[in-house]
Amino acid sequence: MIRELPLEVRSKIAAGEVIERPVSVVKELVENALDAGATDIRVSVINGGLDEIMVSDNGCGMPFEELPLAVKRFTTSKIGSVEDLDSIATLGFRGEALASIADVADLTIFSCDGETSGQLRIRGGELLLCKPVASPKGTRVIVRDLFFNLPARKKFLRSASTEFSHIQKFLQSMVLIYPNVQWTFTSEKGVIWHVPPQLSAEERFYSLFGQKAQFRAFTASQGELDIYLNPNIVGELILSVNGRLIKGSAYFQVLRILKDMWGGANLPVMVLRLNVEPDQVDVNVHPQKLDIRFKSQVWLRQALQELITQVRGEAGGLGIDFKTN
Ligand code: ADP
Ligand code: MG
Repeated sequence: MIRELPLEVRSKIAAGEVIERPVSVVKELVENALDAGATDIRVSVINGGLDEIMVSDNGCGMPFEELPLAVKRFTTSKIGSVEDLDSIATLGFRGEALASIADVADLTIFSCDGETSGQLRIRGGELLLCKPVASPKGTRVIVRDLFFNLPARKKFLRSASTEFSHIQKFLQSMVLIYPNVQWTFTSEKGVIWHVPPQLSAEERFYSLFGQKAQFRAFTASQGELDIYLNPNIVGELILSVNGRLIKGSAYFQVLRILKDMWGGANLPVMVLRLNVEPDQVDVNVHPQKLDIRFKSQVWLRQALQELITQVRGEAGGLGIDFKTN
């Protein structure tokens, strides 16, 4: 017999797609902070984020009366129509993150837009508190007891230290993609790193990886490529498209093209920030927004070719072996 699922079950299914593990919460909250124009983002976690995740920012904040809307599903200040889906310039647009977190955890938000400020608490979808309180301009979100009401999901989580390293890895990528933001990351053990924007690229890398690297930056019309050379660190590609960290099939597509152009040498740590006209990519292909589709393969190849040509020009100085064609 086909039955319609009760709302409670539906919302948990939807939440499970967006929030897979602690790092998914960190990702959504950090993206909201960036969308709010924050230049100072602090993340702190307890027990690998399983017990608590806190993200605070100095962004635009929310007016008090909008707090209940922020935690509803499909409510967003970022898009308004189907046409808007064709040219998304923000990291968020689905209006699902806070609602999903609220469904599967204990969520508290403090926010101030410079005029009004307030606090809201919602646990497992149940609104427990919403009142005006003084708070500094910006937003602070605290997430506790993740998946307390979703035992099936909780069972699949790894140890706190594994969840912690996923968060650390994600934040490392974000710090490298957004060097103009001040990033602070703390845990119950203390400050993991504090990375102000005035740090040089070498110093930034050192604060994140605890090792020095030689740094080179390349700029082309469609993006920027930062290369960090350190033979002791396993090379990898960190890719962003219009500020969005990409992990899915588009990532492998870019990696394949780069490796191909790169030739035999091992990849160094590469941070590639591609900037595309928003209507040249479809960002609405993945519930966690970790993948995109490029509309034009030709565009992509050309953009990468232009960057690689520059890198090749310097290859000798970098001590990298390149394929020459
Ligand atoms: P989305 O980011 O897709 O819009 P979210 O559920 O993540 O959906 O957030 C809902 C809304 O809450 C956002 O559109 C934004 O208006 C507001 N919001 C969330 N986080 C912040 C923040 N850190 N600063 C300012 N506004 C925020
Ligand atoms: Mg969001």
